[in-house]
Amino acid sequence: MPCPGTLPSQHEDRSVSKNTVSSQLEPDLLRGLPLHEALSAWGHHWRNDVTPMSYALSRPTNTFDGFLSHDWASSGWLKFLSLLIIFNSGAAFWSCLVVSVLVGILRGYGCLPDEHWTVAFGHFIYFFVFFFWQRLQMPCRHSRMMFLDKVCVAQHDDELKHKAIMGLAAFLLNSQELIVLLSSRYFTRLWCVFEIATFMKDPERRKRIRLMPLKSTVLLLLVSGCWYLLNIGFNTTKLVFWDYNSSETESSFVFETVAAIVSMFIFCFVLLPVAFYVGMEMSEDMEVMPQQLRNFRVQDAKCLCCSIDHRDPITGARLPCDREVLYATMKEWYGGDAAGGSRCKSHSVDS
Ligand SMILES: [Zn+2]
Repeated sequence: MPCPGTLPSQHEDRSVSKNTVSSQLEPDLLRGLPLHEALSAWGHHWRNDVTPMSYALSRPTNTFDGFLSHDWASSGWLKFLSLLIIFNSGAAFWSCLVVSVLVGILRGYGCLPDEHWTVAFGHFIYFFVFFFWQRLQMPCRHSRMMFLDKVCVAQHDDELKHKAIMGLAAFLLNSQELIVLLSSRYFTRLWCVFEIATFMKDPERRKRIRLMPLKSTVLLLLVSGCWYLLNIGFNTTKLVFWDYNSSETESSFVFETVAAIVSMFIFCFVLLPVAFYVGMEMSEDMEVMPQQLRNFRVQDAKCLCCSIDHRDPITGARLPCDREVLYATMKEWYGGDAAGGSRCKSHSVDS
């Protein structure tokens, strides 16, 4: 699990202490976060700060519609926008289409002025539904239940946190799908690898892994932004030229042409190169990904405990190694060398 922190230092003394991650968890600790909460407060839950208040947002549940898998170092804002694209963009598209057609009909029948500004209704409804679709559905259906580590694991209480982390497989195995918010760091984090491995061990469950590269979100936003800026640029330029040559209605064709040329110039020489650059970067990442996965070794993945030499940075107390627990669990599932975690050198997770 990529959430800040690692197994509590006292974990050897706890009753649930053992050398593998359990697929059983006390019902009170099996907690989920409604999707509308995960997407609320403009991505607040995706920031790296951890407060006791966060845990109060979660609630006990038996099953999860989705397990949100991510590494904490990548942009919280991008992860938030990626989830909006996954869960809200379809509804936003259909709402925009329906409203736009309706506006066209009303303009045709004279119920609305036949003016360009009326297209704003379609744009407004798109963004409204894009950001608030999960809340809009609340009166009609239960919100989907998701697992988000920061909120569903008690980060403020060492004992509860330890139990939840040691029972992480219970969260994963009770989840309908694994939603991977993929960044270039994802496969370098040991807890992220463990989450994928949990789904990969079952052929049926394997089909329910959904990958969302964060760079594709950047690209989608950039392309959308380009078209919006093009539209705004075109209309602004037209307005400027129109004001300058007021009442010259016969020359509107010329002004609109000039406006279009100026906008296209901005679009082609300023915005498009940026969009192409990000797109090419993303294509390169996708191209090398099969090779990276073929060469992938779980031993190369990093976890926090090892990076701080198993010492609490504040108290100096010795910390247990998450790697040993995760190696032991993955070996139990996939087989391989039955020796201890540090000897798990031949094991890898195929993808
Ligand atoms: Zn370690």
